[in-house]
Amino acid sequence: MSGIDSLPPLREVIAEHGLSAKKALGQNFLLDLNLTAKIARQAGDLSQCDVLEIGPGPGGLTRGLLAEGARRVLAVEKDARCLPALEQIARAYPGRLEVVEGDALMLDPLAHLVSPIRVVANLPYNIGTELLVRWLTPPDWPPFWESLTLMFQREVAERIVAQPGSKAYGRLAVLAQWRSDARVVMSLPPNAFTPPPKVASAVVHLTALPKPRYPADAAVLQRVVAAAFNQRRKMLRSALKGLAPDIETKLHAAGLSSTDRAEQVPLEGFCALARVLNA
Ligand code: SAM
Repeated sequence: MSGIDSLPPLREVIAEHGLSAKKALGQNFLLDLNLTAKIARQAGDLSQCDVLEIGPGPGGLTRGLLAEGARRVLAVEKDARCLPALEQIARAYPGRLEVVEGDALMLDPLAHLVSPIRVVANLPYNIGTELLVRWLTPPDWPPFWESLTLMFQREVAERIVAQPGSKAYGRLAVLAQWRSDARVVMSLPPNAFTPPPKVASAVVHLTALPKPRYPADAAVLQRVVAAAFNQRRKMLRSALKGLAPDIETKLHAAGLSSTDRAEQVPLEGFCALARVLNA
């Protein structure tokens, strides 16, 4: 008995199904079910929610989510070797776990889930940032999700919650903080995982705001922020000159100094510039 459910311990599951970790799939598994239950709890009360989990692997976090009472879980896994272990979990929680084999980047969650939806995942590091940016930048807001509770490499987590003036401040901070409240809620050392990754990890909890903090078009804001931070050491007037003719006038119209660098510009400033460029 594992302590949180009647399924076999994860080490046995991994041995039985031959789930040796593959680096190319970003496989660093969490085998401590007390820890996965703790991560699941960071997402709040899940009893009235559907949960999207990306990359369940052998199912440690999936088991945490179900044991903590999630109404339904959709688990999307690219590695077919994991499916028998996940089907065993589905049988232990009838009607509450749907497993989809495939690439999370190709999935339409709304074809499977019913609102309210929360996303909880120990993300594969190679697609984590791409998924986060997608979830933060749909053209319309609010998005399909209420909250995201996501494990990242510690350094990525720090970039999501960074404030202006810090080295970690950049595109991720602006996009995340524009439309959500983002907090680091847990830190995990490498030895929490099997095999241990090279770096520490952290769980970030993002709650979707009912509307963005400042008005701006999502696509324009993304272009502004990408250009500004691509050349973060340059002054705005030269980093952004490809965005529009007479960028200096536009920077001034947005209340920004053309000699500032991207790192110094608060979220509000990027949104003001996106509005001027979109006018
Ligand atoms: N959730 C498990 C845990 O916490 O032990 C595994 C986490 S592991 C960091 C990431 C998982 O994502 C692996 O199981 C891997 O096979 C899966 N994965 C990698 N790329 C994927 C993709 N594009 N779509 C869906 N799953 C993917």
